Amino acid sequence: MTENERNYIRILVQKNVPIEIADETKKILSVCDNLPDTLKNPVVTDEEKHSIIRQIFPKEVQSFVISVCDGGAVDSLARMIDEYTELCIEKQGSIRAVVRYVTPLTETQQEDMKSFIKEKFGRNDVNIEYRCDPDIIGGFILNAGDYEYDKSYRTSLKLMRETLKHRTNKLNSSEAPDALEGEIDHAKRANDIISVLKSEVSDFDHKSGVTETGYITRMGDGIAVIHGMNHVMYGELVEFENGVRGIIQNIETRTCGAVLLGSDHGLTEGSSVTRTGKRAGVGVSDALLGRVVDALGSPIDGLGTIPAEDYFPIEREAPGVVERKSVTVPLETGILAIDSMFPIGRGQRELIIGDRQTGKTSIAVDTIINQKGKDVICVYVAIGQKSSTVAKLVNTLKENGAMDYSIVVSASASDPAPFQYIAPYSGTAMAEYFMAKGKDVLIVYDDLSKHAVAYRAMSLLLHRPPGREAYPGDVFYLHSRLLERSSRMDDEHGGGSITALPIIETLAGDVSAYIPTNVISITDGQIFLESELFFSGMRPAVNVGLSVSRVGGAAQTKAMKKVSGTLRIDLAQFREMEIFTQFSSELDPATTELLNHGRLLMEILKQPLYSPLPHHEQVIILYAATHGFMKDVPLKEVREFRTNLLGYMRIYANDIIKEIDTEKVLSDDLCKRLEKVISDFKG
Ligand code: ATP
Ligand code: MG
Repeated sequence: MTENERNYIRILVQKNVPIEIADETKKILSVCDNLPDTLKNPVVTDEEKHSIIRQIFPKEVQSFVISVCDGGAVDSLARMIDEYTELCIEKQGSIRAVVRYVTPLTETQQEDMKSFIKEKFGRNDVNIEYRCDPDIIGGFILNAGDYEYDKSYRTSLKLMRETLKHRTNKLNSSEAPDALEGEIDHAKRANDIISVLKSEVSDFDHKSGVTETGYITRMGDGIAVIHGMNHVMYGELVEFENGVRGIIQNIETRTCGAVLLGSDHGLTEGSSVTRTGKRAGVGVSDALLGRVVDALGSPIDGLGTIPAEDYFPIEREAPGVVERKSVTVPLETGILAIDSMFPIGRGQRELIIGDRQTGKTSIAVDTIINQKGKDVICVYVAIGQKSSTVAKLVNTLKENGAMDYSIVVSASASDPAPFQYIAPYSGTAMAEYFMAKGKDVLIVYDDLSKHAVAYRAMSLLLHRPPGREAYPGDVFYLHSRLLERSSRMDDEHGGGSITALPIIETLAGDVSAYIPTNVISITDGQIFLESELFFSGMRPAVNVGLSVSRVGGAAQTKAMKKVSGTLRIDLAQFREMEIFTQFSSELDPATTELLNHGRLLMEILKQPLYSPLPHHEQVIILYAATHGFMKDVPLKEVREFRTNLLGYMRIYANDIIKEIDTEKVLSDDLCKRLEKVISDFKG
């Protein structure tokens, strides 16, 4: 109800229009279908409109309808009359109720019903309307205020069917028939099922059957405005008449706004909506591993249903400070440029940011592939991507044997905005299920720019005021409450962790746009990918100057710290010198050496797709490069040198490899041995 509409209603209140007249007006409006069109028609003159109104409406409301017509608010006329009637009834201290029945109620039953409603709603009078409705098969349905008391046979039968279906499903899945057992067991099983069903039917008790209901007043673009349901909670799941569910997103006086999680087919103005009393959530279980699901956790890979073990709300408060532990265990990406200079720890949130087609997804996928055998569960959330891209990614994961420990949550570009909005939260709920079991989880949100856009679309449809770049004011909170749920729990709380790799797409490298700055400030660091580097052949295209990892250093191994200590500075000096010496022809030996060393490092950081490097290989390569063993290797042969060196070491110096992997420290003695092996190899 807008302020304008309230002003019009005030006219009715001032005139003290009787309730019977309001009812009559409503009837006239429902009978004359094309009256609103006529009153809105610009071809019809004002005088003609006024004369029509004077001819068909009762005297008491004529001036009201005329002012509404002149003010151009004809469309909300019926709603305003409704609102006025409700106001009047409330003022009188009475209440309206509708009873739908099949067998008419006796006098005493009617009296009982009346006194029940009076007592329940604390009113001194009730106005009950009785309607015969054969559809409900038997029993009755009472609607009063926001409540619906459903004692109909139709609902009882529906509930019984659902319970039985659930029960049979459970029986089937828990006692799956053994292929070796014969037909006798089949018959026995059938008997078992029948006896269980029999007891279910005899024990079946249709609970009180009270639900709070409302009805749709406006509908479209996956959004429904609902009148009634005064006690509905923010974020609650509601059920529409056609069985589709929705989530409450807006709460206003008398109305609320819900986003639909499914098709709006069959829903019209006036369709009923029921509260479920539950918060939106997803079913979780170990069976999710290896599956591709949609934003609600339903499978979309055609591999059958996923039995749920528990129900986790999609929105949950992030763990507090006391429950957390600092980051100390590395989460190895297998990408040399990242593990050496921007190490990521378990429980950290590291942003991957860059323009389109700069290898953002590839870094995330490489990281997932590298978790093989490391007891890390991976969740990949695809938001607003093409279904074909997601299918390709799932294939890549399968080919590399990474799907066994991964879950893919996909809300593709063709899904409605609400699905794209809840997908990352659902993914996090799944991750939290595993974290609660003490597991380490890696979650990738690909990407949060599209998530923000989906949220903007949804918010604008819900009539929330647009702010900067038309995003709603709470777009920061949208991402902060999501990423804050990534954490590392202390041992008392299971010791699990969630590491987040959110992805943000920038436009023309503009990191100071609204959404990128938001997410940069929420996360613990960012890996900045640059198109220029990408196209010059430097892949992964990590910009060393703009990337940073704020907490991961604590998780880096001592060995890696030792070999990568000066890497960033060396590269920074090289880039500066490279620009500086671009046009000079003669260089002194020191500068030449610095440039050559820089070029070598750049070459070493190049890495092809889907070939993550284990920890010891990274350490050995960096050691050889930073200690001058590769000075005389031409740039073109660096890759070959690298492969051969590692092959040589696997055969002749396996003890060194083992020591690096287990001790994770480069002692002086180990360094000496390593140097000797490398010299031997070169010789
Ligand atoms: P989008 O903006 O479309 O999501 P993106 O930034 O996620 O793109 P990717 O899809 O990961 O980028 O990669 C883009 C292309 O670059 C792909 O064709 C991929 O094969 C290639 N690519 C990415 N990283 C590397 C690499 N290290 N070596 C070789 N090719 C790479
Ligand atoms: Mg991508």
